[in-house]
Amino acid sequence: MWYGSEITAKILIIDSHGQPVRWALMQRAARYYASGKVLTELGENLFGMAGGIQEATGYRSEFVTSSIVMIRGRHRIPYGHAHVGLTKHRLFVRDRQTCAYCSNRFSESELTVEHILPVSRGGLHEWTNVVTACRSCNTRKGNRRPEEANMPLIYVPYAVCRNEGFILSNRRILADQMIFLQASLPRHSRWAQ
Ligand SMILES: [Zn+2]
Repeated sequence: MWYGSEITAKILIIDSHGQPVRWALMQRAARYYASGKVLTELGENLFGMAGGIQEATGYRSEFVTSSIVMIRGRHRIPYGHAHVGLTKHRLFVRDRQTCAYCSNRFSESELTVEHILPVSRGGLHEWTNVVTACRSCNTRKGNRRPEEANMPLIYVPYAVCRNEGFILSNRRILADQMIFLQASLPRHSRWAQ
């Protein structure tokens, strides 16, 4: 599929080992091409961006990039970046916007971050102690553990790995980018194929 520059598309940049490096906007992707860093293109989608008028031809130049671009070298993950930060949005996407207690799906505005062991009782604000819950289930459970409230979890929370973090961080991820990132997810992930 062809996308024009009006789309605020993100290009998935991966290193020569297939490890995701970052989501890049077109301008940044263009710099990789310009500096000769691009090894190959793996995406099925193409993005076009209009450049300046070329003096020789009088035509406007056009830059085209693939939706997945492999660059030279091995990307070293900066210290601390292997861990995916816990945010509301990422949690809701991890859990597919499904309440862990009543199993219904909701829009993000109707969902809450639910601490399985309440923070007031020593529960930590980390991936393995949080699930997505609707407002009414969260209120009903209150300051109790699931077993005390007789509200068993319908799914298990898990820590998000780096590749899954890329999926959770892009609201407009394309199918080919999704398939690429899904290929390396652990089986327990709800985004694994
Ligand atoms: Zn609920």
